[in-house]
Amino acid sequence: MTVYLNGEYMPIGEARVPVLDRGFLLGDGVYEVIPVYGRHAFRLEQHLLRLQNSCDGIRLDNPHNAAAWTTLIQDFIGRQDFANQNLYLQLTRGVAKRDHAFPQGATPTIFMMANPLVTPTPEQFEAGVAAVSTTDNRWQRCDIKSIALLANVLLRQIAVDAGATESILFRDGYMTEGAASNIFAVKGGTILAPLRNHLMLPGITYDTVIELARANNVPLEVREISEAEVRAADELWLTSSTKEILPITRLDGRVVGSGTAGPVARRMLALYQGLKRTG
Ligand code: PMP
Repeated sequence: MTVYLNGEYMPIGEARVPVLDRGFLLGDGVYEVIPVYGRHAFRLEQHLLRLQNSCDGIRLDNPHNAAAWTTLIQDFIGRQDFANQNLYLQLTRGVAKRDHAFPQGATPTIFMMANPLVTPTPEQFEAGVAAVSTTDNRWQRCDIKSIALLANVLLRQIAVDAGATESILFRDGYMTEGAASNIFAVKGGTILAPLRNHLMLPGITYDTVIELARANNVPLEVREISEAEVRAADELWLTSSTKEILPITRLDGRVVGSGTAGPVARRMLALYQGLKRTG
């Protein structure tokens, strides 16, 4: 696998970052995961906008503008020998003597790798996955795509330890998102989407689903969603760039709706697949 590190391409086994990198010592960095279909970076503009927002959120000078990132990313995609890619991009505040305060004159570390993109099969979509509910104990800037993921790691492990796939997070009685995904509910044919604010990551897939629902007149409410509404939902889905739209068919051991993918999930996945083909 060829990776990109600070302007150079190399096999992953040769990529080295100094131990004083602030990403390693402090989790001081941001990242993106971009799905690539047939060597086309899906919604690249939106991912680069979110990267800029993450940089602004941690007061890191973005080393490249959107045009330069686009050239770099397209070149990187072309070097991989598989067409569907899970492109991971990370920026840290660079290498400096360990101190919490921002270093003077450090150069950001830029890293990219691509793995084959594995999206759910039609069978996995139909069966859906299990989720557990838990308390969202993260900080107040969940809108920043920070590499400091310890809270998300621990929250995701709660699901894994229970034999489930994802944790649905609740803060003050309202649903925020999943440990590594956004969450939608459906009630009586209407999609319920949580408000996009500082308590959740603005998922590119989340935005895409909302855009598709509006464009196709699928009933949609974007608002706070209570825990009771989540538990009474006809359908629950998780969304992310790699899982796309994936039904949650069990929550805390109880069946959700029919126990398989629901009609609104099927409709939205079909619309999403259409968009993947046309860009
Ligand atoms: N929320 C969190 C916490 C995430 O880590 C992710 C990405 N894995 C998402 C939401 C979904 O974002 P996207 O649709 O851009 O992949």
